[in-house]
Formats: sequence, C-alpha cells, structure tokens
Amino acid sequence: MKVLVAVKRVVDYNVKVRVKADNSGVDLANVKMSMNPFCEIAVEEAVRLKEKGLASEVIAVSVGPTAAQEQLRTALALGADRAILVECGEDLSSLAIAKALKAVVDKEQPQLVILGKQAIDSDNNQTGQMLAALTGYAQGTFASKVELAGDTANVTREIDGGLQTVALKLPAIVTTDLRLNEPRYATLPNIMKAKKKPLEVLTPADLGVSTASTYSTVKVEAPAARNAGVKVASVAELVDKLKNEAKVI
Ligand code: AMP
Repeated sequence: MKVLVAVKRVVDYNVKVRVKADNSGVDLANVKMSMNPFCEIAVEEAVRLKEKGLASEVIAVSVGPTAAQEQLRTALALGADRAILVECGEDLSSLAIAKALKAVVDKEQPQLVILGKQAIDSDNNQTGQMLAALTGYAQGTFASKVELAGDTANVTREIDGGLQTVALKLPAIVTTDLRLNEPRYATLPNIMKAKKKPLEVLTPADLGVSTASTYSTVKVEAPAARNAGVKVASVAELVDKLKNEAKVI
C-alpha cells in the first residue's frame, strides 16, 4: 500500500514573525524555515505504518519553491522512500495546492494520503478537506489514532467535547492532530542516506494543473501592541480598578 504524505515548508515555530513594512505579507528574509509541525506528525504516522509492514512505500510531496526540497529531504531522513516537489511560487491558495496534490494523487494512486490538520503559517485548516472533495476520497480529519484493517482505516477524531471514530473505506485522506504521535528526530546517518533518495521535481504544467489563485491578499497587519500593565497596592484597589476602569465586574 502506497502512502502519500503532504509536507509544507513554513516559518519555524520558534520564530517571532514580522510583518513587512508595506503590509504586503510576512517578512521571510533570513528567517528560519522548517517542516510544518503537523506534517512532521503525518510523516511519522506514515513511517510507522511502513515499519509495521502495513505500507509498502511512503512518498513525501510538497507544493512550493525550490527551497522546499530542504523539507522534503527532512521527510526522507525521517523515513520516507522518495519525494516529489511540485515547484511553484510561495504564496498559493489552498485550492491551488489541493489541485496540485490531486494531480499527484492521480499519478501515484496512493491508498492513503496523510496531511497535517493545519499549516502554522496561514492556519487555513482546509487543504486536506479540499483534497478529499476533489478526489472524492473518504476523509478523517483531526486524527488522534489511525488503525488499518483490510480495506478500511479506522480513524479516531478529536472533536469538540470528545472523540469520534469513523471507518473510512480506502483510498482515504487523513489529517493529523497533535496527539496522533510524537515525531522522531532524524539521525545523522539517516540525514546522509536521505541525500541519495530520489526527489522528483515537477511543474504544475507537467501535471496539467493551474495554480492561479482565486484570491489576492489585500493587507497583512501585526496585532495591536499590548498596553503596559500597572501594579496595584491592594486587593481593594484591584477590585476598584476592575469595577470602575476596566468595568468587567
Ligand atoms: P492548511 O490547509 O494550509 O492549513 O494546511 C493543512 C495541511 O495541508 C498541511 O499540514 C500540509 O499537510 C498540507 N499542505 C498545505 N500546503 C501545502 C503545500 N504547499 N505543499 C504540501 N502540502 C501542503
């Protein structure tokens, strides 16, 4: 069984992002970029399925700039067998990404596609759902457990106030939540081995898809700066301020 894993290159979660002076977007100059954390969980899950003998091949795919090869090499170091980069500009809409991924699904015919539940840069939380709609595959989003049994994937989903288990008929799409697994670190020997694993570079034109966006970004603004706090001398003063200044009690 082939497993396809979608991997996005994003600003590293430790970076304090800055908005560009012209408000056109986030400043990416000299910023550390990494694999989206939810995609790391997706890679880990696929590699575990391979280690259990349930998956025969794990293919990592990214849609993005040439530099996204770095994140694909990381996926290869974590245990993916080969990688595909659909090379195009940085700022694509989720629908354009889902269409490119759909073309890769058509080409590779995986039984399972694992994506992160959301990318931490744009927080869209929609690529997996769009891919499911485009392919017509069953979807199990926000997965905290995935169990394969024959031609079914039993997926436990994290929903408001509890857990829901759905049985998906393969081929299916799963998106990962935080508690699905704890991703491993890539070891140095595996990082070296990953350099020799196959990485195919395709263009959207090779796949016959258009990545034209259906929207444009009007403005990006940083959140308003927080006002400095004040120290109060007593509980009575605190209560007075909450009542008369903040007017919250
Ligand atoms: P989003 O819908 O943008 O929050 O992203 C959810 C998930 O879709 C990510 O965790 C990835 O698995 C996948 N994804 C989003 N953008 C890309 C991309 N450019 N290339 C590959 N996978 C992506």
